[in-house]
Amino acid sequence: MQTKILLDEEQIPKQWYNVQADLPSPLDPPLNPRTQKPIVPEDLSAIFPMELIRQEVTTDRYVDIPEEVRDVFRLWRPTPLYRAHRLEKFLKTPAKIYYKWEGVSPAGSHKVNTAVPQAYYNMKAGVERIASETGAGQWGSSIAFATMLYDMDCTIYMVRSSYEQKPYRKSMMRVWGAECIPSPSTRTESGRTVLKKDPDTPGSLGIAISEAVEDAVNHEKTNYALGSVLNHVCLHQTVIGLECREQLAMVDDYPDVVIGCVGGGTNFAGISFPFAGDKLTGKHPDIDIIGVEPASCPTLTRGLYTYDLADEAGYTPLLKMFTLGHDFVPPSMHAGGLRYHGDSPIVSRLVHDGVMRAVAYHQSEVFDAAQTFARTEGIIVAPETSHAVKGAIDEALKCRQTGESKTILFNCSGHGNFDMSAYDAYSAGTLVDYEYPDALIKEALDRIPKIA
Ligand SMILES: *Cc1c(COP(=O)(O)O)cnc(C)c1O
Repeated sequence: MQTKILLDEEQIPKQWYNVQADLPSPLDPPLNPRTQKPIVPEDLSAIFPMELIRQEVTTDRYVDIPEEVRDVFRLWRPTPLYRAHRLEKFLKTPAKIYYKWEGVSPAGSHKVNTAVPQAYYNMKAGVERIASETGAGQWGSSIAFATMLYDMDCTIYMVRSSYEQKPYRKSMMRVWGAECIPSPSTRTESGRTVLKKDPDTPGSLGIAISEAVEDAVNHEKTNYALGSVLNHVCLHQTVIGLECREQLAMVDDYPDVVIGCVGGGTNFAGISFPFAGDKLTGKHPDIDIIGVEPASCPTLTRGLYTYDLADEAGYTPLLKMFTLGHDFVPPSMHAGGLRYHGDSPIVSRLVHDGVMRAVAYHQSEVFDAAQTFARTEGIIVAPETSHAVKGAIDEALKCRQTGESKTILFNCSGHGNFDMSAYDAYSAGTLVDYEYPDALIKEALDRIPKIA
């Protein structure tokens, strides 16, 4: 009864896998919001280093991981793959359930897998400071850790409501030497404008992104970094799925079903793209790849596949993706990291093409699943991750019905050690499930800018 399937450090992947190489036709390019023409690298060079811009658009199947980055990965990679024997037994399922545990990283989630290479390429390009935003604080703490490794400064604009409610993520950023500022702030024009109108605003991710981009554009040797959505972020996360494929091969297995939770789509991309590649190239045509999102922010299941802005203020290019509309405001919920109106353009394309599919669940049912997981496997997962747990449990229960012994793999993207108030709300029965009325979704979709 092997429980942990472990690789050694030499087996940390040497290359990232780029699924763009195996798409039957190229992705639709990002557009400049003013001209509606495809953007050129120069449009992005004020805020991103050239190597990341190159990785955003390359169709090379593999991209080398710098040795210096692999050296940092040794601190937590390869991450363990677990066989969930206890969960299987509890569910009385003939299915085999495996989970990849990304919560062992310094910041406690998959996000450092991209924070480290992003900081590295910026350092190589002579950048001395990163400005970025954070909602609940998972990305802010990851990029704080990564910039510290390369002696860079780091300024994080943290959504004010989280800044006040989630003090420990902010403390982590300070320990790693980053400056964390509640957003909106008086540091930027965008922040001052919002504060003048509403001094008591709780802030939003859209405003925080605008502040960080403005900071990066206006300061020499300062760049911006994004922890989700973009193609290069998906690329960096593929170490997850590449390791899983090796680990499953060690026990002579291969997944029938691959599952991840979806915020901007990158931890799901990370675990699934290598397998999606196997599906696209006909090696494993029948694999079922499922993204799980919150019913209160149902981008893939109820959104539109079209060009839309990636932020509220309109600083970013137009991306072809599933979107609920850039000014769509999802209700506040505990899985803050899944509260985004859009999704990764590559994940969107693969869902649109039927290579992957998506399901949506309510808060209370995902916390039920998370509690079951904590009481069987022991790990208390992040509220975001609990969506993937719920997806895996549902697939395993289907197997109990049909008697099939499928191999189910899911990404356990992070721990919930700073999210215990959400578990308290679940125990107290005060979690609210919210179903969007069709009319409200339609109104937000109608406000998406029309492309000629
Ligand atoms: C940020 C986060 C997510 C959602 O982001 P993706 O880009 O969709 O992966 C999921 N799980 C955890 C633990 C996170 O921190």
